Amino acid sequence: MAWQDIEGHDAIAARFAAAEVAGRVAGSYLFVGPPGVGKGTFARSLALALVCERPTADLVACRSCRSCIQALAGTHPDIDLVEKPIDRATIPLELLIGSPDQRLREGLCWRLLLRPAIAHRKIAILLDADHLSEEAANCLLKTLEEPPPGAVIILVGTSLQRQLPTIRSRCQTIRFGPLSAATIEHVLSRESQTEGNTSSPAELAAAAAAADGSLQRARLLLSDEVATFRQHLIGLLERQPLPGVELSRETLAVVEAAGKEAPLRDFD
Ligand SMILES: [Zn+2]
Repeated sequence: MAWQDIEGHDAIAARFAAAEVAGRVAGSYLFVGPPGVGKGTFARSLALALVCERPTADLVACRSCRSCIQALAGTHPDIDLVEKPIDRATIPLELLIGSPDQRLREGLCWRLLLRPAIAHRKIAILLDADHLSEEAANCLLKTLEEPPPGAVIILVGTSLQRQLPTIRSRCQTIRFGPLSAATIEHVLSRESQTEGNTSSPAELAAAAAAADGSLQRARLLLSDEVATFRQHLIGLLERQPLPGVELSRETLAVVEAAGKEAPLRDFD
């Protein structure tokens, strides 16, 4: 059984469970790993387990207490989640320390200082940590260095190299690896059962094998739009002589259309 239905990261979950039992959960973590392997999902699940009032095992949320219900609904007052708005290149400063006229009276750093409302601790998750400007990172330093007692702050990024040294040195780094094709296939098949997906087992296996360890990429490969384009592209590539103009025109059209859509997030 995977920890809280998060597949492929049991060793990390075990490490956190041991830390929780020993009362040694750190105040600041930096999750790094390739896109689409489940770092954001893991961070949310960890937050759920950390605020649960009646864990059913070490760091396993009961999913039925008051804290769990609110956390699952995304309305827990002690779980804070900040991410980069889709239309911004970096995480706006005001999300961390408040707007200019409310400096240090709102924002993630301020909210972390408040007493927990219903749980016994406060949790903050900062997704898109790759997109912290130097100024925003500087605002976080004190919070990362001395989180309020019991508070846990989790930064989620893709690689250690993309984080500023000042951030890296203040957080405990947790590395997430790519998922195995078998794990991806298992998750896809579980999802297709619950969501009534029409993909065949062979299609799921092919997407899992081609996804390079990323569940997010596998889901994308299974989407109708991408599957149709792949089929079409393979058809064009099989032609002799190669229809170069048609190939580039159609590929560009797909790339341009994709560019207009909201970028995929690294949640799942
Ligand atoms: Zn609970």
